[in-house]
Amino acid sequence: MLEKQRITILGSTGSIGKSALDVVRHYPDRFEVVGLAAHQNISLLLKQIAEFQPACVAVSDPNALAALRQHDPPTTVLDDDRPLESLATIPVDTVLCAVVGAVGLRPLLAAIDAGNRVAVANKEPFVMAGRLVMERARKRGVEVLPVDSEHNAIFQCIHGHEQSDVACIHLTASGGPFYGRERSALEEVLPEEATKHPTWDMGAKISVDSATLMNKGLEIIEAMWLFDLPAEQIDVVIHPQSIIHSLVEFRDGNILAHLGVTDMKFPILFALTYPERVELPMKRLDLTAMKALTFDVPDFSAFPCLALARQAAITGGTAPAILNAANEEAVSAFCDHRLGFLQISDVVDAVCSMIESSSGYHLEAVLAVDQRAREAAQGVIARYAL
Ligand code: NDP
Ligand code: MG
Repeated sequence: MLEKQRITILGSTGSIGKSALDVVRHYPDRFEVVGLAAHQNISLLLKQIAEFQPACVAVSDPNALAALRQHDPPTTVLDDDRPLESLATIPVDTVLCAVVGAVGLRPLLAAIDAGNRVAVANKEPFVMAGRLVMERARKRGVEVLPVDSEHNAIFQCIHGHEQSDVACIHLTASGGPFYGRERSALEEVLPEEATKHPTWDMGAKISVDSATLMNKGLEIIEAMWLFDLPAEQIDVVIHPQSIIHSLVEFRDGNILAHLGVTDMKFPILFALTYPERVELPMKRLDLTAMKALTFDVPDFSAFPCLALARQAAITGGTAPAILNAANEEAVSAFCDHRLGFLQISDVVDAVCSMIESSSGYHLEAVLAVDQRAREAAQGVIARYAL
């Protein structure tokens, strides 16, 4: 009988977390859920505890933690200062990192330091501190498996090839809900429209990032660290059908592409079971039903976030951490109706010019600059609100 794979899911109540538990549901004999972590959604976490019977859970929001305790769930509830980090260090086969934002950095590092293999959807830690994450993983001999669909695609295309043979990576972008619109037509956009993605069903923050194209900018930086390539070798192409999830071009001109349906369960299963290939009883891509696969250049003037992220990637050091923090604050303000859609890039641009980046990349430097960039962003956002 197959030995069960022990997994922990950080962010089990989110879009990726729920998809991962759907995957687990298909394979009750293959996976054992050891740990689950949530932030505020206690009602869903309680259902997940009842169904998957994890040994331990962590809740980062203190009020939500108190509410969970009142239900006296049949599991160990971690209650130290940094419960997600503690959960991430419990020995398992894979920790799936699926919280949203910079808050995922410490738990990701904790999982790596504990020697746990990591499957990473949470891209912001790579943007903030990709060098640090990859160095720690190398030192600890820990595998880092990308879940983000483009990076998962590249991982599969690049496998078995010499890294020095890679000429460039083409990251595909759907273009988001506002693809084809002029900048002037984006003035009045509301959060409800920005979070309606045409091809993927995702959490609010990444949906807004997809609408501004910041998501693709963050993915350039994520790819730099995952595949050890400079920003100049990573290119973005708009592909509205989201069938090709990314492509790798080799120096001899051959290009390998990865195709698939737009469902995160596929990259999640791949990462959890790698290097095995496991059958997923789900709808496959019907090649003959596809009408056209089209490709386009991004519109940098309507979507300035992409250029801002590329610039931060080229500057390097703490510049991407500054960009990421400013963007998180701006997206949060936009979702709360405190900031207009077009002002998201204005805030990021302003903060990137206000705060000088440094070449340091140790954890304290990254966290300090993250904090400074957030404070600066709050100031800029407050001025817009006047
Ligand atoms: P969601 O917003 O749907 O879920 C976020 C998860 O993180 C929830 O479990 C939430 O808990 C938890 N969380 C929120 N804030 C905190 C916090 N301060 N501390 C700890 N946990 C917190 O996001 P997604 O699932 O869409 O995305 C997760 C990550 O994966 C992001 O980094 C995103 O960029 C990346 N990603 C997502 C894809 C997708 O298809 N959704 C595709 C590729 C990458 P709770 O709900 O309990 O409050
Ligand atoms: Mg992606």
